[in-house]
Amino acid sequence: MHCNACKARLAAGCLVAVLPFAALAQAPPPTTPGEVRIVDDTGAPAIFMPELEAALARARWERVATAATTNARIDVGIVFHVLSGPLGEGDLDDELVARQLAVVNDAFDAAGFRFVVAAVRRYPDSPYFAGGCFPTTESGLRMKAELAVEPKRFVNVYSCRLALPYIAGYGTLPNEFAEDDPRHGVVIDHASVPGSPAPLSLGHTLVHELGHYFGLLHTFQGGCVAPGDEVADTPAEAIAGFGCATGRDSCPQDDGDDPVENFMDYSDDACTNHFTPQQGERMRALAAIYRPGLVTPVDAPTPPRAHSSHRRP
Ligand SMILES: [Zn+2]
Repeated sequence: MHCNACKARLAAGCLVAVLPFAALAQAPPPTTPGEVRIVDDTGAPAIFMPELEAALARARWERVATAATTNARIDVGIVFHVLSGPLGEGDLDDELVARQLAVVNDAFDAAGFRFVVAAVRRYPDSPYFAGGCFPTTESGLRMKAELAVEPKRFVNVYSCRLALPYIAGYGTLPNEFAEDDPRHGVVIDHASVPGSPAPLSLGHTLVHELGHYFGLLHTFQGGCVAPGDEVADTPAEAIAGFGCATGRDSCPQDDGDDPVENFMDYSDDACTNHFTPQQGERMRALAAIYRPGLVTPVDAPTPPRAHSSHRRP
């Protein structure tokens, strides 16, 4: 398959993700599929995953009495930042934002999450729109520092022009930063929302990146080697799935075919359709452990502070 047709949250076969942020930030922009091997669409999992696993083990031991261990639905507020170019490129209208959120809610329903858009913020002719929004670059970090709204209480989602076809989205992991750090968030290419050209046609990029945001790793994390993606009910997978390789079994010594229809693989949107029950449990538990500020009743974000008028009564 020609790579432009790949489900390109990353280019084909790229999964090396062991470099710290400083190294990622200095990586030159990819020019061919073979050159993107040093970037990933989430924080370096090899660095962050042992702590995630340890925290989950502690929580299981302590049986933390939170929404994560009950059947209570977790309501999460999203602030959706729509960046656009000088000609209005990328200016997703409210209807499209609503369609994207409906896709997210369908995907996360079985996991017990419900998302609401607390605010849509628009930035016409944004200097960050084209090429300036990649989260591990200096510019991308500046964008989040400027635009993020109460990261402790809201998932900040940014749509802009990333580097399609190589990177369609980027999601941080929950233990990368302190709860209120503006670097938390998800960045998606504006051409990955529902109705975009295949293979990103159904809006599953945001679903996938939100999976990272709540602590899921790729189903092919670690290849056939335990603990893989640290989720027991996703069969091990040696390499990323592209297209829709149903029936593939790249780790024949383990049970089950490759989970290519899982949202956390790289298959086409038309192929991916579920999180597993244990992925849902992992997200709920990690939300409670690392992002308790998100898991609270959703109000509108505090409006930007008005300048003092110095008026006296
Ligand atoms: Zn990913």
